[in-house]
Formats: sequence, structure tokens, C-alpha cells
Amino acid sequence: MPSDQAQQQPVLAPWAARENDGRGRAHAEASHPYRSEYQRDRDRIIHSTAFRRLVYKTQVFVNHEGDHYRTRLTHSLEVAQIARTGAQYLGLNEQLAEAMCLAHDLGHTPFGHAGQDALNSCMTPWGGFEHNLQSLRVVDELEERYADFNGLNLTYETREGILKHCSKRNARDLGEIGRRFLERGHPGLEAQLANLADEIAYNNHDVDDGLRAGLLTADELSEVDLFNEHWTRVRDQHPKIGSRALIHETVRGMINEVVTDLVEHSAQALDQAQPADIDAVRRHSRRLISFTRNTATRHRALKSFLNARLYRHERVLEMTHEAIRVVEALFARFMEDVHTMPASHAVKAKAWRETGGEAGQARAVADYVAGMTDRYALAAYARLVGRPPEIEMRAKLMKEDHD
Ligand code: MG
Repeated sequence: MPSDQAQQQPVLAPWAARENDGRGRAHAEASHPYRSEYQRDRDRIIHSTAFRRLVYKTQVFVNHEGDHYRTRLTHSLEVAQIARTGAQYLGLNEQLAEAMCLAHDLGHTPFGHAGQDALNSCMTPWGGFEHNLQSLRVVDELEERYADFNGLNLTYETREGILKHCSKRNARDLGEIGRRFLERGHPGLEAQLANLADEIAYNNHDVDDGLRAGLLTADELSEVDLFNEHWTRVRDQHPKIGSRALIHETVRGMINEVVTDLVEHSAQALDQAQPADIDAVRRHSRRLISFTRNTATRHRALKSFLNARLYRHERVLEMTHEAIRVVEALFARFMEDVHTMPASHAVKAKAWRETGGEAGQARAVADYVAGMTDRYALAAYARLVGRPPEIEMRAKLMKEDHD
């Protein structure tokens, strides 16, 4: 039987996360005969209920709007792919990077950021709702799969990577995992990489999705240098290229440019800084995984463009408003009568109300609502409010081509 070490990548840099020096799991478990600890984390995430739900959760476009748009699941897979490429190049722990990427969005509500903002405002009197903290809550507490503990009992390093940002107030309640948000420390390099892989993935796939939906045009996007240069290059090199392949080649060129910049610049930074180990990385004065200034500017320009033109596009905002209505109506209904939730959630809400008052009940309701997929939330709305949500009607009118 191969040893744990043989299951790791052949060459890990000194600054990579190593499970033998890791901070371990909250509940001690015997090691597996042939799977590494971070591999087990990844496998637990893939087998979780929350992971399967990601397929029906909105990234930008509501799932009903078409079959080809990214969902939280395909987004997470693209993030993991980018992070694994970077991890290999930099000698980081690829399995760890993959695990944290696959789990980073597990706490997302239905309907993307609109759903998260709506739930956060519903929860304002009781401590608010942060999707990133919720991702940690899913893996730490909400998954019910093991006899001896709640949650997935993941390693500290995977949990550290999942918690990308956190308010100081919540960080104080989290103990060791929240400390870096209070002390301005950094997570390990795999987590830093996963964080930027997330940004690279959504900035670039949202160009593809936005063009597909007809909410953006190549002409409008030409004001973004990163897009324009690749678009022009591909068109000049392949004058007869089809429109679908032109978009794909452009996005492919953009991703390649920013990922290459990221890994080469980070490799140089690591070479100079020579952190002795992951703890030296955590204590270092700055993040060691980063773009060059020029690429950071180019990438940021794309992000600003998408913020202004795609995420605030009239059609996206229409969906956003509908989504907020659905989430608010569901939350209010479950607060009013816990028995409108399935029995297991009603029992939990009543128990938490006894121990934690109204805040306890609200947290149980928030967990239930946050766990919903788009379609589950729409069905619940139709059942409890008594009419089909407009969001569904509207989406039916907007079918994309299966080209
Ligand atoms: Mg993400």
C-alpha cells in the first residue's frame, strides 16, 4: 500500500501546505490507508448534499434562463481547475487547493448575490448573514453525514481557505480560524491562490455568459483592454472564425494571460521571500500570490465593466428584484410559522428558539433558506404564497439557442 506521502504531489515547495504539519481536524480521526488528508477533504465535499445543490444555484443568471450559463457548480469546477494549474506550477498542494475551491461557494443562497443580500437584510436584527461564513458553517455544522460529529470535520487548512473574508464581529466568535481577520494575517498560499482563481473564473466566464445572453456586445466590451486585445488578435489571426469560437478563443486568451501573469509573478515573489513554511507565509508582511501591477489593473478594469454593465443590467436587475421578493417572503413565512418548513427544520427552529430565543429560530430559518436551490425556493414560494413567482414566468420567455 502506498504511503500517504506518495499520494501527495511529487514535489511540494517548502512553503506549500503539508498535512503532516497541518493543524488537523476538530475531531481526531485515524488516517486513511491510501488517501491523503486533503484528498479526503475534497472527497467529502464532493459527496456532500450542499455540493450537489450547487448545480441549481444561480451564479449570475437564474438556472431557468438557459442550459449553458454557469451555475455555482460549474463555476466552482472552473475555479478549481484554475487553482490546480497554479498549484502545480508553484509547487503548492494541489489537492488542498482543489478542496477549498470546490467548497468555497457551498454557503451561497439561491439567486446569487441578490439572494444573499436579501437574506442578510432579513437577518439584520439577529447578526446578519454572510455567504462566505455560511460556507464554513455548512462544512463545520450543517452537513449530516457522520455518526460521531456534525459537519464534514475538514482539516484546518481547507477551512482556512473556505473562509475568504469575514467581518471582525464574526471573526471574534470563530476562535483560531477567525484570528487572521483580527490580526491582519494571511492564509496559506493555496488559499491565496484559490481566492484569485475565483476572481479569474468569474470575471472571464461572465464575459462569455453575458455575450451569450445578449446583455453585452463585443463592441461594448472593446473598451476593456484585456478583452479588446485578445478579441482583435483572434479575429486577425482567424478571419473566418465562427462567432462562438471567436468568443471562446478570446476568453481562453484572457484567462491564459492573467493566469500566466499570476503564477510567474507569484513564483518570483516566493523566490525572493523564501518563506520557510506555511506559518511564515501566514505571518508575511503581504500576500505572496498576486498579479503584476499591470495585470491587476487590466483585470480590475474588466471587473468594473462587468459591475456596471452586466450585474446592473436592467434584465439582471429585474431578476434580482424578483429574487429578493421570493427570499423575503419565504423568510417571513417561516418566522411566522415554523411548521411551514419540513419537519426536521421545524424541530430545529423550535429547539433553537428555546435555547437562543428569536435569534435562534431566525438562524435555523436562515440555514434552511440559504440551503435552497433556485428551483426549490420558487416551488416553496408558489406553495406558500399561492401563485407562481414571476421570475419563473419571465425566464421561460428567455430561452437561449442550443448552438
Ligand atoms: Mg465563487
